[in-house]
Amino acid sequence: MRRVVMGAVLGILALVVPISAAAAPAPPSSAYRVPGVDNATTRTAVANQGVEILGGGRDYLEVLATPVQAERLRAGGLRLVSLPAAAPLPLPVAPGQFPIGYQGYHTYRQLTTELDSLAASHPNQVAVSSYGKSAQGHPLLLVKISDDVRTDKHEPEVLFSCAQHAREHITVEMCLHIVRRLAQGYGTDPAITRLLKSREVWVVPMANPDGAEYDISTGLFSMWRKNRQPTPENSEIGTDLNRNWGDEWACCDGSSANPANDTYRGPAPFSAPETAQLRDWVNSRVIGGVQQITAHIDFHSFSELVLWPYGFTTSDTGPGLNKSDADTFRKLGEQMAATNGYTPEQSSHLYINDGSIADWMWAQHHVWSYTLEMYPTSLTQGGFYPPASVIDRETTRNDAAVDLLLNYADCVPRIIGAHCAAR
Ligand SMILES: [Zn+2]
Repeated sequence: MRRVVMGAVLGILALVVPISAAAAPAPPSSAYRVPGVDNATTRTAVANQGVEILGGGRDYLEVLATPVQAERLRAGGLRLVSLPAAAPLPLPVAPGQFPIGYQGYHTYRQLTTELDSLAASHPNQVAVSSYGKSAQGHPLLLVKISDDVRTDKHEPEVLFSCAQHAREHITVEMCLHIVRRLAQGYGTDPAITRLLKSREVWVVPMANPDGAEYDISTGLFSMWRKNRQPTPENSEIGTDLNRNWGDEWACCDGSSANPANDTYRGPAPFSAPETAQLRDWVNSRVIGGVQQITAHIDFHSFSELVLWPYGFTTSDTGPGLNKSDADTFRKLGEQMAATNGYTPEQSSHLYINDGSIADWMWAQHHVWSYTLEMYPTSLTQGGFYPPASVIDRETTRNDAAVDLLLNYADCVPRIIGAHCAAR
C-alpha cells in the first residue's frame, strides 16, 4: 500500500511519512516542482515515470517522487526543485472531522445536513436524492435545482459534479456553493431567476464519499485520491474514478494498471460502483432519444485550469469530435477562463489521460464537458488543502464561468456562430 500521511499543509513534504502495511514498504516520496516542462510530450513522459502528479500548468509540474524516480528525472535532463515545508501542522479536532483551520469544509454528514436544509427552505427549487450507493454504502448524493423542481420540463439540463478525487475537498464546497447560490438567487436575483426558469440544473456534490471520509478519518489529511474499493486479488485499496470511465479506457498510457498507483484505472471500465452508477444515471437522462444534459463541469483541484476533451489524444479532433466541435470547446473554455483567470487548454495538452468522465460525456452523449482545476496553482499555496478561509473567495470566483455555461446550455455551438438542431 502506497499511502502518504500528510503532516504539513503547505509544504506537505518535509513531513511525509511512508506507512508500510504491505510486505514491501514503499520508499519515501518527496515533493518537487519541475520547471521548464513546456510541452505535453515531456509532461506525459514525466507522468509515465510512475511519479504522482499533484498539479501542473503550461510550463511546470508538481510531483511526488521517490529518490529513484527523482534520479531518473534528473538523468533525463530535468531540473527538480524541492518544495519545502512552509506552514505549521494543522491541529486535529477528532477522527473524521476536519482539522483546525479547515472546519469551514463539509464532511459527508455535514454536506447531507446542509443540502436537506436547503431543500427544506426552498422546496420548489431544490430536491435531494441519490443515484446509488458507494462501495462502502454511502448514498451518492444528487441535487436538482430548478424553478419548479418536481416537474421534468423540456429544458436544457446542466450537470455539475465534484470530488471524484477524495482529497479535493474544495470542490465539494464549489458544488455546495452552486446549489446555495442558485437556490437563494431564485426570486431575488433576476439573472438567476431567468436561468432557472429555462434550465434544469443537476449537482453531484461528492462523487467519492468513501474516499473523502477516509481522507480525514484520522483527523489529519491522508492525501487520498481514489475510492475505497478493494482490488480483486490484491491488497491495494482504491480505484482512480477519473480513470475508470469507459471511453478509450486504458488506451493510451494515460492511467495506471498498477493497483498501488494513484491513477490506478481499475480492472475494467466502470468497475467502480461510483462511476457505474453515475453512468447509469446520465444514461437515464436520454428521453425520447435525446440526452437532456447538454453541458457539464467536473470540478477538481488544483492548478487553476479550464480543460476540455479529449484527454486521451493530443490531437484537437478525434472520434465524434470534429474541427467545429474543437473550436466550440476552445471558445467557451477560453471565455470561462477569462472570467476566473484560469489557464484554458485541451486536457491532453497538460498530459495524456484516459478514462476520464469528460471524454466519456462527450464521446457517449455529446455533452459539452469541461474539467475545472480549482485554486491554487502550487503546493506552496496549500495544494489540495487550502485553508477554509479561502472557500468563499475561490468558489465565488467561478460564478461567472458557471453562469456562462448555463447561458449557453441551450446551444453551446452558438458561441462560434453555429446552429443546433431543434431539441
Ligand atoms: Zn482531481
